[in-house]
Amino acid sequence: MLHTKLGNLFLVILLICLADLSATAQKMDFEEYDPKSTLVVPAHILTRAKYPFVDIHNHQWAMPTQNLSELVGEMDKLNMAVMNNLSGRGYRDAGDLFDVQDTAYFKKAQANIRAHYPNRIIQFTNISFAHFGQKGWTEHALAELETDVRNGARGLKIYKDLGMEFKDDQGKRIAVDDPRLDAIWEKCGSLHIPVLIHSADPPSFWDPMDKYNERWLELKTHPDRRREKGSSASWKTIIDEQHHIFRAHRNTLFIAAHFGWLANDLVSLGKLLDECPNVYVEIAAIIAELGRQPRQAREFFIKYQDRILFGKDSWVHSEYATYFRVLETSDEYFPYHKKYHAFWRMYGLALPDEVLKKVYYKNALRIVPGLDKSAFPQ
Ligand SMILES: [Zn+2]
Repeated sequence: MLHTKLGNLFLVILLICLADLSATAQKMDFEEYDPKSTLVVPAHILTRAKYPFVDIHNHQWAMPTQNLSELVGEMDKLNMAVMNNLSGRGYRDAGDLFDVQDTAYFKKAQANIRAHYPNRIIQFTNISFAHFGQKGWTEHALAELETDVRNGARGLKIYKDLGMEFKDDQGKRIAVDDPRLDAIWEKCGSLHIPVLIHSADPPSFWDPMDKYNERWLELKTHPDRRREKGSSASWKTIIDEQHHIFRAHRNTLFIAAHFGWLANDLVSLGKLLDECPNVYVEIAAIIAELGRQPRQAREFFIKYQDRILFGKDSWVHSEYATYFRVLETSDEYFPYHKKYHAFWRMYGLALPDEVLKKVYYKNALRIVPGLDKSAFPQ
């Protein structure tokens, strides 16, 4: 009896030692590690923005036939007064090239909006780069642009494929500042519509995918985002081309999507905004950059309060809460909603009300034509 009891005791001690050994020897990879913060600080989860806002960067892919009541119901919950669908001409698979739909598609989408929620949803149009370089391309694109504007387009959206994927009729990459596009930028200026342009991607996509890369997890989970050396123009080349059109077309108003991919370098972005009064920025998909530098970002928002617009990009309702929390609160050390964008924690900027109003709607009301001002506070 005593013998078995001692035996059991020995066994228990042995198991404890083994468990302890395996704990210290435990290996865990970065993707698995997901510590729960034990920090106790005030937390304000905001599912609704403090003021009605304009989401300048949204994508809806079935606008001609979509049930808009459902969409507007979701917008109401967030306090989103106006949604800007940047994919006015959708997208279609045209073999080796993803091309936009025709002007008839745009017109149908506008008809759906006009019949149901003319003050809640607006659209920017897009242009087709098919046959770029062939005689008459520019004239055709200009004519389509004018048609879409007549049908209600409030701006032009340029996808990031320009500068990265789109090729001309000789098979050459089309530079963002290709002179054959000059007439397009000028036309937008004379039509008084802004151009929202997305060029390049986060600079880390061009960096070696190693343990030093901040976007390693994003590249692991989205391998198509990686820009191998030599496979495309460099990040700097594409961004320089974009800045070149900003400087060369001063009468055209540009909105650089995603803070022009300079949210991680606000000093450089500030220089660009100082140099180009025709340039605005929007915050889609870069809130994690702002949330990790709350002091510098807050100063930036105060200094450039007339130049920043609210945008989100992917239409996932639950993710807006992170944006509201970063902009409005002074919360500390809270999580971002996607580990592959940010394995770090976030801090609120606690923006002053006047700045918040400008970012949420006042700047958009000033630069986007035809918005209904009555839906917003003074
Ligand atoms: Zn987008």
